[in-house]
Amino acid sequence: MAGPDTDAEPGTVYLVGSGPGDPELLTVKAKRLLEAADVVLHDKLPGPEIIEQLPEDCREDVGKRAGGERTPQSEINERLVELAREGKAVVRLKGGDSFVFGRGGEEAEYLAAHEVPFEVVPAVTAAIAAPAVAGIPVTHRDHASSVSFVTGHEDPTKPESAVDWEALAATGGTIVVLMGVGRLPDYTKALREAGMEPETPVALVERGTWPGQRVATGTLETIVDVRDAEDISPPAVTVIGDVAGTRASVVDFLQTDYGAAAAEPGAEE
Ligand code: SAH
Repeated sequence: MAGPDTDAEPGTVYLVGSGPGDPELLTVKAKRLLEAADVVLHDKLPGPEIIEQLPEDCREDVGKRAGGERTPQSEINERLVELAREGKAVVRLKGGDSFVFGRGGEEAEYLAAHEVPFEVVPAVTAAIAAPAVAGIPVTHRDHASSVSFVTGHEDPTKPESAVDWEALAATGGTIVVLMGVGRLPDYTKALREAGMEPETPVALVERGTWPGQRVATGTLETIVDVRDAEDISPPAVTVIGDVAGTRASVVDFLQTDYGAAAAEPGAEE
């Protein structure tokens, strides 16, 4: 049997992050495991280029079931255990890093509870990489000494909302919102009501590092109109804070491999 550093172990599940989407941002380890795995369970978030490279006969798309609804996490967990018990070397491939809003923690717990050996393969999260390739550092000595990663999926007006927007506004640091295209109006309002300046710079980075990456910029006050005018849709990250404003000083010299659309007139504010 091959050693752990040269191949993929039978009966083992590898929780692998794909990075944001550019195949060159896969880790060396992720690439090796993708090549060595008997089966790869994935959804759409690793992006078209990485998914296209997976051999057809050893991949399972567990993102959406027929009919369009999301495959329940419980079904994915069970499938991972089933395949491992068949003696397969299994890669569970997630977009970005599996442990950043990727439900990798739940999968790890389930595997451990079912006594299935697993390994975690960390990766480049889109929460940092999508802003970066758009020219936005999530921290900056002059602008932000902290960064918070939050889900924008929840209704901020609900009292039981797990994200404390008021507390986030008070940090003065960068806020990176994932899954936050739809509820952009709600949380930008919540942050303004919590005292953040309406002029605070905001950037939306859509499909970061994918072909057709786009960047749209505005302020806490204008970004919803910008989103609508540019028709920004998921996957996209929202970067809120003064760091988003620093992009303007670098963008003319920022070389990028991604999406010609990034340079399209109108894609920028
Ligand atoms: N585990 C992932 C995040 C999964 S949550 C990671 O670490 O990157 C899904 C959200 O991630 C999307 O709604 C979007 O906000 C963000 N996202 C993932 N890939 C992205 C990409 N290539 N560009 C922009 N946002 C992305």
